[in-house]
Amino acid sequence: MNRRDLEITKQEDFRYVLEHCHSINVGMHDGEDIYILPMNYGYVLEEDKKLTFYIHSGKRGKKLELLRANGRISFEMDCDHQLIEGEKPCQYGYAYASMMGKGNAVIVEDVQEKQKALSILMSCLTGKEFEFTEKLTTIVEIIRIDVEEYTGKRRLAKRF
Ligand SMILES: Cc1cc2nc3c(=O)[nH]c(=O)nc-3n(C[C@H](O)[C@H](O)[C@H](O)COP(=O)(O)OP(=O)(O)OC[C@H]3O[C@@H](n4cnc5c(N)ncnc54)[C@H](O)[C@@H]3O)c2cc1C
Repeated sequence: MNRRDLEITKQEDFRYVLEHCHSINVGMHDGEDIYILPMNYGYVLEEDKKLTFYIHSGKRGKKLELLRANGRISFEMDCDHQLIEGEKPCQYGYAYASMMGKGNAVIVEDVQEKQKALSILMSCLTGKEFEFTEKLTTIVEIIRIDVEEYTGKRRLAKRF
């Protein structure tokens, strides 16, 4: 990374980005092309920095076809957008917090894991706890992303 001064290294700062972004851009293989989709997510960030995302989806569509063919993905997410104003054009900047990385996407079949994933997803999105019946898990697909590596950057609007 060129701007090491902006690099996120602390667990609490990664968690900040994960809690504030709300949507993740997932890049998938589409033959020789790349297919990128924005989606909401739930996440689990463990003490050893292991990161897992859960995404819910309808039962059909292009992303599921692509992921079944090749689960290798890249992702990016960003938040805290703010224009930093200056007197001259070269003094302008842009504040942000972002993460990106890569991993493997798996379509979850296990009912209990689907129930757990939906609860995590809803908790991350709403801050509330929900439980899901086995029947509800049959009407959605759950995509689990096992993240293998990730980095973060954060540029504050004001330095303090
Ligand atoms: C902020 C945000 C959060 C979202 N959260 C979720 C989520 O949690 N789960 C979820 O399943 N979906 C979510 N979506 C919708 C998601 O981006 C896809 O539209 C959806 O998952 C269908 O994808 P698909 O590959 O099955 O598309 P299909 O229905 O198979 O359609 C394929 C074609 O539709 C077009 N298309 C698909 N998605 C988009 C898009 N977002 N914008 C423009 N064109 C598109 C493309 O041309 C693509 O080739 C979210 C979208 C946004 C913007």
